[in-house]
Amino acid sequence: MVLLDGKKIAEDIKIELRQALAQIQDAGEKVPHLATILVGDMAASQTYVRNKMKACEEVGIKASLFHFPATITAEELVQKVEKLNQNPEIDGFFVQLPLPAHLNAEMITLAIDPRKDVDGFHPENLGKMMLDLPCFLPATPFGITEILRRYNIETSGKNCVVIGRSHIVGMPMGLLMSRNHPQGNCTVTVAHSRTKNLKEVTRNADILIVAIGKADFVTADMVKEGAVIIDVGINRVQTTDGKSKIKGDVHFESVAPKCAYISPVPGGVGSTTVIALLMNTFRAAKGKKELTTS
Ligand code: NDP
Repeated sequence: MVLLDGKKIAEDIKIELRQALAQIQDAGEKVPHLATILVGDMAASQTYVRNKMKACEEVGIKASLFHFPATITAEELVQKVEKLNQNPEIDGFFVQLPLPAHLNAEMITLAIDPRKDVDGFHPENLGKMMLDLPCFLPATPFGITEILRRYNIETSGKNCVVIGRSHIVGMPMGLLMSRNHPQGNCTVTVAHSRTKNLKEVTRNADILIVAIGKADFVTADMVKEGAVIIDVGINRVQTTDGKSKIKGDVHFESVAPKCAYISPVPGGVGSTTVIALLMNTFRAAKGKKELTTS
C-alpha cells in the first residue's frame, strides 16, 4: 500500500510556486494577491482561513483578510464582494464557507466576478469546467487530480465511484474523473444517500473517492482489493480521553492494508485543497495581465 502524501505534494507545489513568484518579481510584475472574506467567528472556519493565509505567506502570495460580524446582511456582504470585484489590487478572492444561516451561499457566490473566483464555485466556472474550457477548478477536486497526476495513477478506463454529490466536492469530482483527460477517462458512478446497495457499488470501484462527512464510514468490506482510495472527509470526533481528533470518512486502519493507494486524514486531501487555491490565485493574476494587455 502506498500512502498518498498530500502534505509532501503541497510542499513540492509550494517550491514550484515560490520559483514562479521569483520570476514574477524579477520581471518587476505585481505579486499575486488573494483576499479572504470571513463572516462570523466559527472556530473551524478561522482555522481554515489561517492555514490558507499561512500558505500564501510561505510562497510569497500577498494575502488579505476581510472579517465581518455574523450579523452582516446579505446586501452588505454583496456590496463587500462587489468592492473586491472592482479592486484592481486583488487578483482573486473567496468567501469562507459555511456562512451564517441567514446568508445564502449561492447568492453570494453569484456576486463574485468569475475571473476572481479562485474557489471555482461560480456557475460560470462550473459550466466552463463541464465544457472543458479554461476555468478555475474547485479547489478540492483540483487538488485530488494533482494527487493522481503526481503519483502517476492510471485512471483511464477505470471504474471510479465518488460517494457524495455536493456542489463543491462530489459532483465536480465525478465530472472531472469522467472527462477526456490524463486524470480522467473513468467510468464514473456518483453515489449519495439514496443509493441502494452502496457496498456493491463501492466494491466495483478501482478508484473510490469519499466525500460524505461521516467518520470511518467506509470499511474494508466495501472496498475492492487493490483499489485507490481518496478520503476527503474531515470529521472532528471525541476520543476516550475527552479530547478530540480529526478523522476521515474511511476507516483507515482496516481499509489501508487492502488497497494499492490511500490518502490519509489529516495529511491527504486537505493539504492539496489549500495549495489548489494558491494555484488558482496565480492563474487569476496571470489572466488579469493577459486581459489588460489584450
Ligand atoms: P455535504 O454535506 O455537502 O455532502 C455530503 C454528501 O454525502 C451528500 O451528497 C450526501 O448525499 C452524501 N451522503 C451522506 N450520507 C451518506 C450515506 N450514508 N451514504 C451515501 N452518501 C451519503 O459535504 P461536502 O461535500 O461539503 O463535504 C464532505 C466531507 O468532506 C466533509 O467531511 C467535509 O468536511 C470534507 N471536506 C474536506 C475538504 C478537504 O479539503 N479535505 C474540502 C471540503 C469538504 P445527499 O446528497 O443524498 O444528501
